[in-house]
Amino acid sequence: MFAVNLHLQNAAHKANMKKLIIITAPSGAGKTSITKYLLNKYPQLAFSVSAATRKPREQEVEGKDYYFMSAEAFHKKIGEDAFIEWEMVYEGKFYGTLRSELERLWELGKTPVLDIDVKGAIHVREQYANNTLAIFIEPPSMAELKKRLESRGTENMESMQTRLSKAEYEVSFKGQFDKVIVNDDLQRACEETETAIIEYLGWQ
Ligand code: 5GP
Repeated sequence: MFAVNLHLQNAAHKANMKKLIIITAPSGAGKTSITKYLLNKYPQLAFSVSAATRKPREQEVEGKDYYFMSAEAFHKKIGEDAFIEWEMVYEGKFYGTLRSELERLWELGKTPVLDIDVKGAIHVREQYANNTLAIFIEPPSMAELKKRLESRGTENMESMQTRLSKAEYEVSFKGQFDKVIVNDDLQRACEETETAIIEYLGWQ
């Protein structure tokens, strides 16, 4: 009896450990800043490193920011069913969450935090409905999002338009998430996200 109870307790403990957090948002809504805030503060959380076929940016490190790979290697992994989800987030650029990455982080006793696009987030949530907290970060308005993207200075007129209409489309899915946090003030949005995670993981 004792052994059975212990076994059940262990199973429950393991299941509890296998939780994951998704932070998603339209591009420019601030999800990366919020994710960084959380990862800096809580060593129990760990960034889920995605696979990507785009070129690394100057500061980016293989295996830390992404597992950078060729389109061929990426497609081979699709064939092997190595991804929980994958998307062509930008024209010709593929991104995906590897099953092995979540297992790696769970093995380390960490809760993975996925910073992924909206479609990908919906796909992961479908597969891990019972152990996922999926948070949608909403920009305060399209006008504000446009201002933020302009201040980044990385968009031309065409890509700006593409991003804005994509953002509008993505916001239409916000009802599918566990929590929607409007990022009109970054510090407040960070704290609201933090509170939701603390509650979900039962840290209080
Ligand atoms: P960037 O190229 O700027 O690093 O990322 C572009 C977008 O791809 C961001 O919105 C990021 O959240 C998203 N992304 C990163 N990794 C994944 C992933 O594994 N799956 C999906 N669906 N999107 C991802």
